[in-house]
Amino acid sequence: MNCAENKFLDTQGSNDVACWNNNGCNIQYIIKGNTSRWAKNIRWWLLGCNSIPIETVPTFSNSIPIETVPNNQKKVRILHLSDTHCMHHTIESKFPMPEADILLHTGDFTNRGSEEEVKFFNTWLGELKARYPVIIIIIGNHDRWSGFNTPTLRSLLNNATVLENEEVQVYGLRIYGISWSLKQPDGSPDSHPSKEFFYKIPENLDILMTHCPPYQIFDLIDEVHTWGSSKFLREAIELKKPKVHLFGHLHEQRGVWIKNPGSLEYTGGIEFKSWPYPSQAPPANYPCQLISCNAMKNHKSWDNLPSCIAGPARLITATQKKDVNWVFSI
Ligand SMILES: [Zn+2]
Repeated sequence: MNCAENKFLDTQGSNDVACWNNNGCNIQYIIKGNTSRWAKNIRWWLLGCNSIPIETVPTFSNSIPIETVPNNQKKVRILHLSDTHCMHHTIESKFPMPEADILLHTGDFTNRGSEEEVKFFNTWLGELKARYPVIIIIIGNHDRWSGFNTPTLRSLLNNATVLENEEVQVYGLRIYGISWSLKQPDGSPDSHPSKEFFYKIPENLDILMTHCPPYQIFDLIDEVHTWGSSKFLREAIELKKPKVHLFGHLHEQRGVWIKNPGSLEYTGGIEFKSWPYPSQAPPANYPCQLISCNAMKNHKSWDNLPSCIAGPARLITATQKKDVNWVFSI
């Protein structure tokens, strides 16, 4: 990847985009320095990319094999975490995390967004690096409480790639992340940033990461009232059609909806125990194949437990047959 020239390098002659951090060096320098096992016998492609500023160049390795299964299928394992609120270090005492190729965290890794809390989380990510070669995160509302802007948080979170209205391509998957903005309020569906803010989401993404839910999907706080969701985000999703939407924010709304290939209906629903109100599935024509709200910390008002991690990280598998779209399963 050469972000100085806004390009991706594809070393594998197919849709398999291999990326690594070249610290902004020019393309010739990268080609010369490529020591991967594909370096000598694979074509080099340049793909346009205008969405990643240089300070967000991810450190993705180009030498990690993706599991290949019969029929030329490719599999990428994605682990979705969210809303761990300084309890990340306790997750595995109750819910051991499975192996995965990409770890994605959709925000609220802290309670107050203090430097100490952010560093505590970043140290944990550093320990996970050997197990999860790609770690991508977005910022949640709690992570903004101390008023840190994104460049400051990026410098504190140097064990992950932080996305703020940006796209990265990993193992051929297009992933776009929207971090919580400093001016964004927590609550009503009409008070989120402008339509233009969410309409910047590119079309046909594989994975969209936001902290807040779209309006009327995993956003109920009683029988009828919604909280923290965005109508504009929902409109943008219906227009831009990402295959997967990952988010958190409402702990009592932790759950998943999935539409299996060939099926018109969603299956799934709320996983949070003690939630008394049934949640409605999105309509059959909603574009996402998989929707995951995985706010992992409990909600004390609903389960009367002390603060704890209430649910596991969610493992999602992306499978791709040659030249065919990714299919996601759990
Ligand atoms: Zn939260």
